[in-house]
Amino acid sequence: MWRKRRKTCGHYDCKKRIRDDEFLCPEHYQGWIDGLIDRCPNCGRFKDVMYRLCLDCYVGRQVAPWEPSVPIPEPKQRYRTEYSEAWIDGYLRPDRFFIYILEFDDDELCVGHTTDIRKRLAEYEKPGLTRGRSPELQYLQIVATERAAELREAELKRLIESNPQQIRLMINDFRGHMGGLGLKQD
Ligand SMILES: [Zn+2]
Ligand SMILES: [Zn+2]
Repeated sequence: MWRKRRKTCGHYDCKKRIRDDEFLCPEHYQGWIDGLIDRCPNCGRFKDVMYRLCLDCYVGRQVAPWEPSVPIPEPKQRYRTEYSEAWIDGYLRPDRFFIYILEFDDDELCVGHTTDIRKRLAEYEKPGLTRGRSPELQYLQIVATERAAELREAELKRLIESNPQQIRLMINDFRGHMGGLGLKQD
């Protein structure tokens, strides 16, 4: 008897069942639409964009190459997120995570998280990466787990889309606190 194999989500770390016409579970599909996940260049499965490889490939596990069984449309990739070596530590040694918002010369906001905010900001200063647009740190929050950081990052990214005024208020509030502490950006 012919039996169809059950399909599972194309994210490397997800075993959720999906329909035949899907390639990701609804949660990961939203992440992909939001530009938070893309494909691992090694195995082809989906991974978080801030890492170069999926965790399996990163630690050298053998994984079968994955091919989608349905065509994958172009992602929107609205958010500027590049993978960073500074994030790799967070894979293996969760400790303390910074969620940040940067603003560029052309008013574009960029949300990300990192375990090493100094290193991350230094990376943004590198010529080429931000195409000469100087990034300015506008908001910073510290959380204890990577999961919390991911959720907060996704939340802020959605907020930038849906309610930019609230983001501006949040940033002003944050600047107010920093000013109150006698801290000023130069
Ligand atoms: Zn999934
Ligand atoms: Zn991989």
